[in-house]
Amino acid sequence: MTAVNPALKLKRLQDLDVKGRRVLARVDYNVPMKDGKVTDDTRIRETLKTLEYLLAQNAKVVLIAHLGRPKGKSEPKYSLAPVAPALAKLLKKPVTFAPDCVGPEADKVVAALQPGSVALLENLRFHAEEEKNDPAFAAALARHGDVFVQDAFGAIHRAHASTAGVCKHLPGGIGFLVQKELEFLDRVINNPTRPFLAIIGGAKVSDKLGVLDKLLDKVDGLLVGGGMAYTFLKGQNVSIGKSLLEADQADAAQAIVQKAYAKKIGFLLPADHLVVAEIKPDAKPVVTQSMAVPQDMIGVDIGPHTIELFTEEIKKSKTIFWNGPMGIFETDAFAGGTTAIAKAIAAATKKGAVSIVGGGDSLAAVGKAGLKDQISHCSTGGGASLELLEGKVLPGLAALAG
Ligand code: AMP
Repeated sequence: MTAVNPALKLKRLQDLDVKGRRVLARVDYNVPMKDGKVTDDTRIRETLKTLEYLLAQNAKVVLIAHLGRPKGKSEPKYSLAPVAPALAKLLKKPVTFAPDCVGPEADKVVAALQPGSVALLENLRFHAEEEKNDPAFAAALARHGDVFVQDAFGAIHRAHASTAGVCKHLPGGIGFLVQKELEFLDRVINNPTRPFLAIIGGAKVSDKLGVLDKLLDKVDGLLVGGGMAYTFLKGQNVSIGKSLLEADQADAAQAIVQKAYAKKIGFLLPADHLVVAEIKPDAKPVVTQSMAVPQDMIGVDIGPHTIELFTEEIKKSKTIFWNGPMGIFETDAFAGGTTAIAKAIAAATKKGAVSIVGGGDSLAAVGKAGLKDQISHCSTGGGASLELLEGKVLPGLAALAG
C-alpha cells in the first residue's frame, strides 16, 4: 500500500491501540447545507466505517473538521452544529456538539465523554491558527486525544494544524476512508490497465498545469475541456472571443501540447463549443462551427462534436480519471457537456473500465445524473487526488509518517 508515497510508512487504524482511549479523529465534514440543514450527507457517510470501528472498541471519539472558508472568524453560517444531528441519525447514537474546538468549552465536552461515545467540535477554521499550522493551536487540539486518526482525505494535501501540526503530539494513523482512497489511487497511478485516459476540466489553468505535465508521463490519452481549454486554444492562436483566459499561462499551456505531441499521447481540446453573448441563466447558447469562438462571444460548454470525440476516447479506455467540469455546469443550459462525459464514463465502467472521479464539481455532476454507483471510485478529495497523481507527497501523510 501507499506506493504513491513510497517513503512513508503509515500506520492504519487496525494498527493503532484505540481501545477505551480518547481518539482525536480529523474528518471531512465540509458538506453542503441549506437553511441550517445538511443537504448531502455523502461525506458524513464516508466516515461511518471508521467511526463504527472506533465505537466498537469503546473509544471516546473526538471529531474535528472544517466547513467552508470562514477566514479565521466565527460565522454562524459556517457552523458545524447541523452536522451533529445528521451524524447522530446515521450512527443511531447521540453526538455531543462543542461550540468551539479549543478552550474551556471544548475541554469540558471532551472530559465528559464516556467510552463508546462521540463528540463533534466546532469548525476548526473559526481560528486563523488552523490554516497557519500554528504550533500552540495544534498542541491545544492534541490535548483532546491520546491517539490521532486522519480520515479527512479531502484535507490531507494541506499542511494545517489539524492535518500536520497535531501529528507532532500524538501517535497516529490513517482511517479506513483515507486507506481506501490511497489504495485505489495507488493502483491506478502505478499499475493502470491501459489505455489510461485522463479528462481534466474546470476553470483554473494555473492550478492544473503541473498535474497535466506529470499526467503526460503516465497516461495514454488526455482530454481537456472547461474554461481552462481556452488558454490552451489561445496558445495555439485559435480565436477564443471573450472566453475565460489566463493570458500569462498560454505559453506554459502550449508547452504541454508540445510535450503531448512529442510523447505521441492522444491530446484533445474542444473541437466546438456552446457560446453565449452574456453569461445568464436564460441565455440561449449557440454551437460554433469550429474550435474558434466568434468575437464578443463566450465559450460556456463543449459542443456536440466534442462530446462525440471525447466519448469515443472514453469508450476505448480501460482506466479513466476525471476531474473538473466541461462547462459552467452550475447553469442547466451549460451543463450538457459535463453530464454527457459523466454518462460516457459510467457506460465505459459498465463495460469493464476502471473509473475514478474526483473533485466536488465532477462528483456533483455524477450525482445529479444519478450515476454515482456506476463509477468505480468517487474520490472524496479532488485536490488531494490530483496531487497524488502529480507525484507529490501529501503533507498530512508526511506528518503522520513522522
Ligand atoms: P476549478 O475550480 O478550476 O475546478 O473550476 C470549476 C469551475 O469551472 C466551475 O465552477 C465551472 O463553472 C467553471 N467553468 C467550467 N467551464 C467554464 C467556462 N467555459 N468558463 C468559465 N468557467 C467555467
